[in-house]
Amino acid sequence: MTELNQPNMTSLSESGTGTKQAVTHAIGWRSLNYNETYICPVCRHGQIAALTLMDALACDFCRHIFTANLREQSVHVEDSSQPMTWRWTGHHWQAANQIDMDLTIVIWLVGSALVILPPVIIWLSSHTFPPLHDSTGAWLPTAWIGLTFISHFAFVAWLLAEHYQVPFYVACKVRLQDTLGRR
Ligand SMILES: [Zn+2]
Repeated sequence: MTELNQPNMTSLSESGTGTKQAVTHAIGWRSLNYNETYICPVCRHGQIAALTLMDALACDFCRHIFTANLREQSVHVEDSSQPMTWRWTGHHWQAANQIDMDLTIVIWLVGSALVILPPVIIWLSSHTFPPLHDSTGAWLPTAWIGLTFISHFAFVAWLLAEHYQVPFYVACKVRLQDTLGRR
């Protein structure tokens, strides 16, 4: 009796744990389908939902259009300069982007040159022909170098945010467009 019961008990407790794990896993888990809404992978602010009579989804905030691949549980943004894809894990989006590596390298190289070179050139010229110490404009080269660095850095930061489509940046851009559009 004992020998007969023991395997049964084991299998029972095992299946019990399995069910518990499955239940825990199932809480909040849902597949990608056209009947539900999901947080937008681009702006991480709006909700994407299926468009009526279309195999596409749209965000109610940034208005990006996505096509879904339900078999692969992924969405692809259709109206962006960057060809971006995200995979739905059941809980959140996972980037599956094939960002153009050549373009990325060029952007990083040009960006680095834009940030470093102009301040260095100004520093070199102010170092070669330094202003007189007691002159009123002695502060100018330092301020000019700082201003050059900040402005070029801001431009390159914008370029990178646009290239990588950083969610915070995308959300800010949509808010700004909304504010300007409402006027
Ligand atoms: Zn969005």
